[in-house]
Amino acid sequence: MAARVIDGKAIAQKILDEVAAGVKSLSPKPCLAIVLVGNNPASQSYVKKKGEMCEKVGIVSRNVFLPENAAQAEIEKQVEMLNSDPRVHAILVQLPLPPHVNEPDVLERVNAKKDVDGFSFVNSGKLFAGVPTIAPCTPRGIIHMLKESGVRIAGKHAVVIGRSNIVGKPLAMLLLQENATVTICHSCTKNLAEITRTADILVAAAGKPKLVKAEMVKEGAAVIDVGTTRGADGKLVGDVDFEGASMKASLISPVPGGVGPLTVAMLMKNTLECYENCTGSRRLTGIRRGSRAVMIGNREGARGKISSAAYAEDDEIGKKK
Ligand code: NAP
Repeated sequence: MAARVIDGKAIAQKILDEVAAGVKSLSPKPCLAIVLVGNNPASQSYVKKKGEMCEKVGIVSRNVFLPENAAQAEIEKQVEMLNSDPRVHAILVQLPLPPHVNEPDVLERVNAKKDVDGFSFVNSGKLFAGVPTIAPCTPRGIIHMLKESGVRIAGKHAVVIGRSNIVGKPLAMLLLQENATVTICHSCTKNLAEITRTADILVAAAGKPKLVKAEMVKEGAAVIDVGTTRGADGKLVGDVDFEGASMKASLISPVPGGVGPLTVAMLMKNTLECYENCTGSRRLTGIRRGSRAVMIGNREGARGKISSAAYAEDDEIGKKK
C-alpha cells in the first residue's frame, strides 16, 4: 500500500497561526533582524521571503545589508550593535557569508538569547548537554512533523543520513532527546543500504538527489526527505526516490511541500522564543522550560553552508486558505 504523504504546508500553517495569535497581543512586537552580506541572488530571495513571512505573522523584520567586500570587523560590529539594541529580539545571519569571512566567528558573536538559528556554541552546547535552548529550525521542524503525523519516536531506530551542523547532528541530538536509538550515516559509511533497511524512522539529509531507493527502506518506515537540490529544469529534487520509497514506507514527506515549510515556520516560532528570552515573558510558545521532552537545539553555520532557515519551499505558506 502506498505511504501516507505528509502535508508539510498544513502542519506549518498551524504553527504560523499559533505564532500570529501569540504575537497579536504583544507590545512591542517581536523583531527579527537579518544580516545579509553581499549580493548572492538566492540569499537575497530568501531574506525577502523571510521578511514577507514575518509580516504575515505580525513580526517586525529589519534587514541589515552589507557589501560583498565588508570586512570581518564591520560584520561583527553590526552583529554587536544588534545584540545591544533592545528593539531587536532575534538575529539571523544569512548564510553563506562571502568566502573571505570567518563564518563561525561571526555566528559566535550573536547573543545566545537572540540566536534565532541556534548557531552559537552556547546554544549548540546546551543542545548537546540536554538543556532546553533555541533549536535549529529544520531539525526542530522534523521532530514536530513526526509528532504531528502520529509517529511515536521513543524506542524506534532512527537513521539520519548526513552529519552537518545544520541538519544531521542537531537532528540526531533531538531524536536522542525523544528516546530514539539513533544511527548517523555519512559519506564514509559502509553498507548504507544495510543500515537504512533497519530504520523505523529514516531521515535523508545528504543533498544527493534520489540517494534513497525503495530497496533501502524498511517496510512500514517513516521516511523524511530533507534534501533540496535544484534540478536542471529548476525544480527541487529530494534525496529520496519518492515513487519507489512510498511503496515501502508507511509515511513519507514530499519535496517540495515537506520539511521546507516547517523550517520557515520554525524560524517564526524561534523568533517568538527569542522574544521571550529578551523580555522575560513566558508561555507564548507553549515551551515548558524545564522539560526534556521539549528539548530544542542548535546548529553552527559551517562555512559555505546554506542556512536551513533559508530554503525557498515556503512559497505557499502563510497564504490565506
Ligand atoms: P551538507 O552540509 O552538504 O551535508 C551533507 C551530509 O550528507 C554530509 O554529512 C555528508 O557526509 C552526507 N553525505 C553526502 N553524500 C552522502 C552519501 N552518498 N551517503 C551518505 N551520506 C552522504 O548538507 P546540509 O546542509 O546538511 O543539507 C543537506 C540537504 O538538505 C541539502 O540538499 C540541503 O539543501 C537540504 N536542506 C533542506 C532544508 C529544508 O528546509 N528543506 C534545510 C536544510 C538543508 P560527509 O560529512 O562525510 O561529507
